[in-house]
Order: sequence, then C-alpha cells, then structure tokens
Amino acid sequence: MRLPHNQDLENADAAIVGAPFDTGATFRSGARFGPEGIRSMSHLLRRYNPSLDVLIFDHLSVIDYGDVPVVPGYIESSYERIADGLEPIHRAGVVPIVLGGDHSIALPELRAAAAVHGPLALVQFDSHPDTWDKYFGELHTHGTPFRRAVEEGLLDPSRSIQVGMRGSIYDAGDWEDAKEMGFDLVPTDEVRELGIPAVIEHIRERVGDAKTYVSFDVDFVDPAYAPGTGTPEIGGFTSREAQEFARGLAGLDIIGFDVVEVYPAYDPAGITALLAANIAHDFLSLISLRRKNGG
Ligand code: MN
Ligand code: MN
Repeated sequence: MRLPHNQDLENADAAIVGAPFDTGATFRSGARFGPEGIRSMSHLLRRYNPSLDVLIFDHLSVIDYGDVPVVPGYIESSYERIADGLEPIHRAGVVPIVLGGDHSIALPELRAAAAVHGPLALVQFDSHPDTWDKYFGELHTHGTPFRRAVEEGLLDPSRSIQVGMRGSIYDAGDWEDAKEMGFDLVPTDEVRELGIPAVIEHIRERVGDAKTYVSFDVDFVDPAYAPGTGTPEIGGFTSREAQEFARGLAGLDIIGFDVVEVYPAYDPAGITALLAANIAHDFLSLISLRRKNGG
C-alpha cells in the first residue's frame, strides 16, 4: 500500500508485519515468499473503502513494520522469534496485520497476543480447522496450531468459531475433535445451507464483545480465485464472498489479524496475493471504522 516503513510504534495504530516462514507446511511449500507477494500486489490499493465508507488513514496511522525474524527449517526457534517480534506491537496498543507465512505462525501470533490481552476469541476462515494433535508425528505444523493454542490457554474456544471447512479428511474425527475442544465449526456445506448473512450473524453472536483474533487462510477461497496456496480445496468461496465475510465483522473488538498461506510460486498473475492484499485492506478498514465510530 506504499505505507511508510518504520518501527515507530508510539505513533502507529496498526502495523503490517510479514512472517516469511513456511517450515510448517506439510504438502507443498513457498509461503515464505507470501509477504513479498502480498506487498507487491498491494501497490494497487487506495485509501478509501467505499463498501465500509471509511477513509482508512483519516482515523488510523498505519506503518509497514517490516518482517519478523525467522529461521528457515527450525520451527520452534522461529516461533520464539515471531512471538518476541510481535509482542511489543501488542504492548504498544498497535494492531498487527500479519502477512504469512504458512498457518503454523498462528501459534506464536496468539502467544504474543494473549500475553498482552489474555485468552482471545478466534474467528478463523479456512477450509481446514488446523486442530490436529500431530502431523507426521510432530506437534508443530500448519495443521496443528489451534489445538496447541487451546492447550496453552491462549484461546477461549467457547467464544471462537471456525468457518469454511471442506474437502476430504482422514475421518469424521478431524472436525469432531475441534468441536470437542469447544470450537464452533461451520463447514462450507452448512454455510451454503444457512446463507452467508446468517453465518455472519452467528459469528457476531458467538464472539460478542470479546477481544478477537481473526485468522484468514486463503484456502478458504476456492482455488479458482486463490490457486497460490499450500493445500487447496475445491468447492470454496469466491473472492467477493470472502470480502462479505470480512466486512461482516465490522464493530467487533479485533486486536489482531493475519492472512496466511499465500504461495507466489503457484500463483498465476498474482491473483492469490491480490486477494490477500485486498483482505488485509478490509481488515485495516474495519479497525479504522471502529475508531471512526469511537471504539
Ligand atoms: Mn489453515
Ligand atoms: Mn487451510
């Protein structure tokens, strides 16, 4: 978005932060180039969001903070660096918009956020719940972060909701486990039955006034619109529908966002990165709108 690159948290309200890490990926890899790809496509974005009627920078000072440090190939030391990099941002009262990176980065993101704000509500848009116990025998992959987050007390599952699950799974337990952990889980089939406005209303009731983290995995969107991702699942949402979901969160007390799983090497014409940049733009608009309305 051609934002100023600095780390002056005292004079910022929101910060774009890259997390160029893909060691958590279990199928194909390349999300480490996600932040670069999203930033590149974001050059096109402009300051007014007509759908939300907000001039973003009238109410919000936004910086590009740069990237948090990571160690390719080493997930636990990367987790420490990512969490250490993000925590000062939360402490300064600045809302991070994190550009992934594979979805494994959600765990250190939530560690940093919960260290400052306490246990959080989660709104997760994704075709997968990412609540497996282990994958390839490992505790930390992009298929496991939200189970770890519950185990670590970073989330309040009773206020959290996962939307968009679909595709083939190993058995029904993959989704049942998430519900047993306390999450509400709304598969894509159910969204189609209920309609998007009803699901948005359900999300808003579920989260209420809790401090909320929104995590947007681009595989929520159909691979026709978002092919550049790690584990694509057909039968998904359009980019327009993703915008409707994002904008439906207006007014919630959102203290952090991410958009993850952008793989530029698999992304013809940069359309997935363009989608991610626009979703980040909607997130910024939501924060700005809340400030505009006195929140
Ligand atoms: Mn995911
Ligand atoms: Mn996913």
